[in-house]
Amino acid sequence: MLRSHPITAYHLSSKGHVAVYYAAALLLGPVTPALAQVSTSMRVQDIGINAAIGLATATAWSVVRGRGLTGGVRRGLLGGAAIGVGRQVAASPFSGSGFTGREISAVGISLITSVGSSHLRLSFPVGPVEIQLVDGRTFDWRVNATDAVAAVINFARAGTRLDAGLSLSSGTLVFRDKRIALHTASGEATAFEFFESITLARGAFHEFERVPNVLFHENVHVLQDDFLADAVANPVESALPNRTEIGRRITRHIDLGLLFLPINGIANSLIPYTSRPWEREAYALTPRHNY
Ligand SMILES: [Zn+2]
Repeated sequence: MLRSHPITAYHLSSKGHVAVYYAAALLLGPVTPALAQVSTSMRVQDIGINAAIGLATATAWSVVRGRGLTGGVRRGLLGGAAIGVGRQVAASPFSGSGFTGREISAVGISLITSVGSSHLRLSFPVGPVEIQLVDGRTFDWRVNATDAVAAVINFARAGTRLDAGLSLSSGTLVFRDKRIALHTASGEATAFEFFESITLARGAFHEFERVPNVLFHENVHVLQDDFLADAVANPVESALPNRTEIGRRITRHIDLGLLFLPINGIANSLIPYTSRPWEREAYALTPRHNY
């Protein structure tokens, strides 16, 4: 059911928002007081589904790297469960939840991507950059070029400014837009996540609110993007250039991040908003936030 993520995950405002909220609630179950908080069964279900996705992904890498069908079972299950825990932390309404959840999820992603490799490379993402600890001894770094370009565009855009406090809290770049609502391909939105950056419209902030509730929903999308990019798209993308010396030099510190584009584009065009598993997960983990 759960998959990572679209090119633009957004939160609809006004009538669209209400309709989508209840549509999502209907998909997840009846609109009852039980939706006021995340139930234990929902948390267990979310971790179970992420563990299954982790197992499937790790098994695929194990087979591709010649370690057979069972080579990725332990790291896949453990990594997937960590990803689920990370997303639940990121969805929780406390300062720093996005950052903390993102790093927990990143450990899970690292376990999955290291299957079949002779090195354990733990990646810790901050914005579009990853600090890596290799085999517990040496540090390295990577940057996602597409995420970095998207961030630069956000910096350069008139009417948008970086919110340093919320960026620290979410572990990624959070921008504030002067407009009440944002125009997206799917309608009006108060917030969206786009290539690991979050943009919040003025309409996302309720009266005297310093941290908008919708931020925790967008935090989940950042972690979903991390998984799709780091566990699936980027390793596939770098396989071809890694066969040449010059390609290896380029990919040593840079993920182009280009394969991510068509995967997201196709997923978004095929699946309507309320049926998107990644939206269902983000709504399921933040129902009490009333955004
Ligand atoms: Zn969303």
